[in-house]
Amino acid sequence: MNKADSERLENALSKIGFENSTTPADSDLIVLNSCVVRQGAEDKVVGMLTSLKPLKEKNPETILALMGCMVGPNTKELKQKFPYADIFIQPQNYNPLIQYIENKLNIDTEGCLTQLSAKADVTAYIPIVQGCDKFCSFCIIPYRRGREICRPVKEIILETQYLSERGVKEITLLGQNIDSYGHDLPEKPDLGDLLKELNKIDGIERIRFLTSHPNDMSDHIIESVAELEKVCEHINLPIQAGDNEILNKMRRRYTNEEYRNLIEKIRSTIPNVSISTDIIVGFCGENDTQFQKTIDIIKDIRFDKVHAAAYSIRENTIAMRKMLDNVPLEEKKSRLNQIESIQKQILQEKNDLLCGETFEILVEGKKNNNQYGRNRNDKLIYFDSKENLKGSMTNIKINKSTPWSLHGIKTT
Ligand code: SF4
Repeated sequence: MNKADSERLENALSKIGFENSTTPADSDLIVLNSCVVRQGAEDKVVGMLTSLKPLKEKNPETILALMGCMVGPNTKELKQKFPYADIFIQPQNYNPLIQYIENKLNIDTEGCLTQLSAKADVTAYIPIVQGCDKFCSFCIIPYRRGREICRPVKEIILETQYLSERGVKEITLLGQNIDSYGHDLPEKPDLGDLLKELNKIDGIERIRFLTSHPNDMSDHIIESVAELEKVCEHINLPIQAGDNEILNKMRRRYTNEEYRNLIEKIRSTIPNVSISTDIIVGFCGENDTQFQKTIDIIKDIRFDKVHAAAYSIRENTIAMRKMLDNVPLEEKKSRLNQIESIQKQILQEKNDLLCGETFEILVEGKKNNNQYGRNRNDKLIYFDSKENLKGSMTNIKINKSTPWSLHGIKTT
């Protein structure tokens, strides 16, 4: 979501004459887009902001803005801590920054925020739901991004058409809790209805969406993924923990058994679907037996990707106010290592089975002398070719696998 916000702001700024610079020292404007989902992410932002202080003192005319989830409704504390920053803006609230630029640089900014979209590339992110209503006990997002607000279907169609006309082939719809899409709109469309409309747009070859909450993943959404030919067979469905007591303390409002049943339903409805998940280890009071349930579910479900992170206290969350962060850091690290080693083995086994198969990928670019793209299941595939194939749909036969990627040769 932050990447999408940055791209949209970048595009708006390019309309009023800004271009990318190579270093902060060359810049007239520096916007630091912050993530505070975990302590590690917040520490990085603070480190970067602190490192920009000497530059700002040397070049006081450079505009320094802090944007994103680090900026709450009350910026008094941030202003005291970082008095050298010029402006603090909440997620997706670009207007104050544009106004500040207009006043300071005396330029006409009118219209730069209309038809806000990512810069057109082969792939593009489209935020469709802002905020979250779930209030999981560990999560700061609802406090920083606010309650859920869904964009109307028409507006999303227009943005997708606009991107398609500029060469975008794949869109990824974004929302903190994307499968609750539409509940606040007058006609109550759901994500399945939206996917059906976007599936009709010429030029768009693939549609993805992130992130889902198990409680809002309806039959209609699952059937839509199965039926609509442009919607890719990949679902990110965070479980967060395997133990029911921990899930309850996290306020996730589903059980281990319900999650397993949902996975079964998804797998039986969508042939060849890949499933990724998010897991938090070391949540308040999680003991070894409870953590073992997380290990068991990873082994049983054999996810295609696991994003695991150690729990860290987030300001003002329910967990911070009512629970004890009592799992030692060393234990959290050891649990993360266990998950990584199990998942590495699962992925190597799964990817080995794909050797010899051919997949159609959308070529996204070049990395380390190889071109790369993803198949419909979101598997990263590298290949070597003298032709620049960025933006084309290309068939690749897999001849080598690692846990994290596949490598192959072009067949068409
Ligand atoms: S559903 Fe996701 S974004 Fe919303 S509160 Fe829970 S973890 Fe945070």
